[in-house]
Amino acid sequence: MANSPNQDRRFVRPRNKLVELLKEKGIKNTQVLNAIGKIPRHRLIETALYHRAYDDSALPIGLGQTISQPYTVAAQTEMLEIQKGDKVLEIGTGSGYQCMILCELGAEVYSVERHNELYHRSKEALKSEGYNPLLKCGDGTLGWATYAPYDGIIVTAGAPVVPDDLIKQLKVGGILVIPVGDSKTQKMMKITRMSEDEYRQDEYENFKFVPLIGEKGWGG
Ligand code: SAM
Repeated sequence: MANSPNQDRRFVRPRNKLVELLKEKGIKNTQVLNAIGKIPRHRLIETALYHRAYDDSALPIGLGQTISQPYTVAAQTEMLEIQKGDKVLEIGTGSGYQCMILCELGAEVYSVERHNELYHRSKEALKSEGYNPLLKCGDGTLGWATYAPYDGIIVTAGAPVVPDDLIKQLKVGGILVIPVGDSKTQKMMKITRMSEDEYRQDEYENFKFVPLIGEKGWGG
């Protein structure tokens, strides 16, 4: 996946165009847009797909999984309202793209991936781009209790219900962003922990994700 700076230059224009498109689609957070404009998404996919690297679409990364659509990544990240230094847990590391965006925003990132091969691949990619999140291979439907509570939790696979462990691992004031629905379509939900036992739930547009598979997800 190594790219020379010369090779990388040809991706600058399509990446800038993608940022413009995301603005047109309603993404307002400048830091999120800057991060999208910086992360080399092409390095996270196979070379045969390079011509589509900065399309606003999900792309295959093997094992039946995808690198999420940039609009989805931007929208979910915006909903998290990240402040520098926030502790953020991501469920579904996949290619590492979303993880890089979170790191770029200055978050302290923890990320869980269930596929061993993707865990190793994303670990390499994140390291070679200079990012240092803490990664784990395991079932993210259970969260990552060791480092809880979190200011933000982002789930990048479609859940049948909101896993209770994720709710419990939120700080008071913390935000969980998770797509919930059936296998065809999921509604984006933003759950804010208002106090120890009080939550506010906001619902957004529909998205389409690969399934969240695990004890508190599909197949649980
Ligand atoms: N954030 C990823 C990115 O930027 O490339 C998106 C990857 S894909 C849409 C969703 C990922 O969630 C897949 O890699 C899948 O293996 C993973 N996944 C599904 N169920 C999971 C679970 N219970 N725990 C951890 N990862 C899971």
